[in-house]
Amino acid sequence: MKVIARYWQIFWRKVGEFNHFLLVIIVMQMSLNNSYIGRFAPTPTGKLHMGSLIAAVASYCEAQKHNGQWLLRIEDLDPPREVPGASQSFIKTLTRFGFEINNNVVFQSETLRQKAYQRALDKLIKNGHTYNCACSRSQLKSISIKAHQCRNQKQIPQKPYSINLKVPDSTLTFEDRIQGIYARNLLNDCGDCVLKRKDGLFSYQLAVVVDDSFQNITDVVRGIDLIDSTPWQIYLNNLLNYQQPSYAHIPILVNNTGQKLSKQTFAKEINQADPLETLLVAHNILLQKPFKNKPKSLIEFWNVAIAHWNINKLDNIQSIQV
Ligand SMILES: [Zn+2]
Repeated sequence: MKVIARYWQIFWRKVGEFNHFLLVIIVMQMSLNNSYIGRFAPTPTGKLHMGSLIAAVASYCEAQKHNGQWLLRIEDLDPPREVPGASQSFIKTLTRFGFEINNNVVFQSETLRQKAYQRALDKLIKNGHTYNCACSRSQLKSISIKAHQCRNQKQIPQKPYSINLKVPDSTLTFEDRIQGIYARNLLNDCGDCVLKRKDGLFSYQLAVVVDDSFQNITDVVRGIDLIDSTPWQIYLNNLLNYQQPSYAHIPILVNNTGQKLSKQTFAKEINQADPLETLLVAHNILLQKPFKNKPKSLIEFWNVAIAHWNINKLDNIQSIQV
């Protein structure tokens, strides 16, 4: 009888351990589900136009749908191109449109961020992944990447020079959550990229990778015009031993001649007089399930938009004419 009781005891202890194991898995699963961190990272070189707004809406809905966080980063890396007051105007507009923005807005121009870019660059230099280049644009245009002598030289040029990433002859493949498999040979299709410009400013490619890691971004949702940069960013991520975020590139907006709507093609600033109306236009452009009844408030808009949000409606679509 004693033996049976002993086995019974062991059996229940094992059940207890198993339950504990299950609990750990469930907690891990919950924390995985809650660990989504998305972001919106506009460049403050003008007013917010519809192309930027749909990137904001898509990244926001995707983060909220995953019960995740949505972080804002102002990519003000290039002060000469920045429009004074644009950063604050972006934040104000997003707030007026009902986006919930936490206080941790990152500005790439901040001293601490600049120091972080330099640290990452120093690591790449130390590990031999960079070279110095003082060539002019026209010089670079006239030679192939394999004939570019600077790639194999170690000297510090006497004139202003950029510090470039030296890419290997290998193919980088990733699965985009919207556009599917994307593969590019780093050397032949992408080429080297600038990490620090001749004028001393850090490049977008370096800053974005350092900041995505700094902000613990798990999921990048952005326009497909940036998909060509993604192989460089994944490669840099690997070199710097950062966690790899997943990518989802949404279609860009084009006009009736197929030109991308951007500041350069004089895209109109979004209508700020009626945020709800403008958000409904954005929601429609993003091919989401139409509202049965027009929402009465921004809160209602966001509740319904997030509840029905389905990023896969954009699958394999590269441009949308507006
Ligand atoms: Zn060169």
